[in-house]
Amino acid sequence: MKFADLHLHTLFSDGTFTPEELVLNAQNKGLACIALTDHDTVEGCARAAAACAKVGMEFIVGTELTAEHSDVEVHILGYLLDLQNQTLLDGIAKFQSVRQSRIYKMAEKLNQLGIPLKPESVFELANCRSPGRPHVARALVKEKLVGTLDEAFELYLKKGRPAWVPKAKMSALEAIELIHQAGGLAVMAHPGLNRSDEIIPALVLAGMDGIECFHTKHSTAMAEHYLEIADFHHLLITGGSDCHGFSKNKPLIGTVKLPYGHVERLMTAKKIADERRAAAK
Ligand code: AMP
Ligand code: FE
Ligand code: FE
Ligand code: ZN
Repeated sequence: MKFADLHLHTLFSDGTFTPEELVLNAQNKGLACIALTDHDTVEGCARAAAACAKVGMEFIVGTELTAEHSDVEVHILGYLLDLQNQTLLDGIAKFQSVRQSRIYKMAEKLNQLGIPLKPESVFELANCRSPGRPHVARALVKEKLVGTLDEAFELYLKKGRPAWVPKAKMSALEAIELIHQAGGLAVMAHPGLNRSDEIIPALVLAGMDGIECFHTKHSTAMAEHYLEIADFHHLLITGGSDCHGFSKNKPLIGTVKLPYGHVERLMTAKKIADERRAAAK
């Protein structure tokens, strides 16, 4: 049996692996195919693709866009995107700059609380275009301003805590369109984590292609629930570990094993969508 892990992060967002380390770990887990889905970026994809090609592993270009619909935060995975698509790159760049200005705001709030964290030390540590709260937490630990990452979130960064800054998000419909116009497929990430069942029909109507039924934080019952929803709406089924390297716990890569048949269905859907677009021109 061949398996895939279609939800993975690197240090191009909030993971700790380089693309090359990620591929090495995937190889050790015996995966046949991986997708890189860093938050609001596709920067790591070229290197991951090259590393996969070297070892004969299949690679799927991806990203995980932070979006919202009816005040519910929802993460939309984009797969099989055209990395040269300028509208996609511009759309992503806008939300990367939102992420960067949010770092300044969080540092300012921390400073007001008497925590002398400089935004520059967060950017230096993050060293990517998609910095977020995990990088602020790591910088706080590194500067010995808190003891642990958990403490950073509990004391300051969690929603409602004093250094929390809300993040402007694109609308889920906008995210789906951004992915589609770049030739990609749009998939709702970890629906079980976002209490997003009620928004699924609206996103299906907007052309969403699939849902992530298998995820580290989905119980077996949850996975079955989403498989039924996928069946009902004729959606593609995906799955992945949401591995962040060592940034949250031990590397999760390969703990969710998506049967390869789902990858084949993803490829077929992409081919059909491409042919439709070509015919519509
Ligand atoms: P951001 O996109 O900047 O809001 O950060 C979201 C990231 O922070 C996600 O990868 C979350 O998994 C992570 N995160 C959120 N809450 C916590 C927490 N309490 N402890 C550790 N990581 C967290
Ligand atoms: Fe993350
Ligand atoms: Fe997510
Ligand atoms: Zn993720």
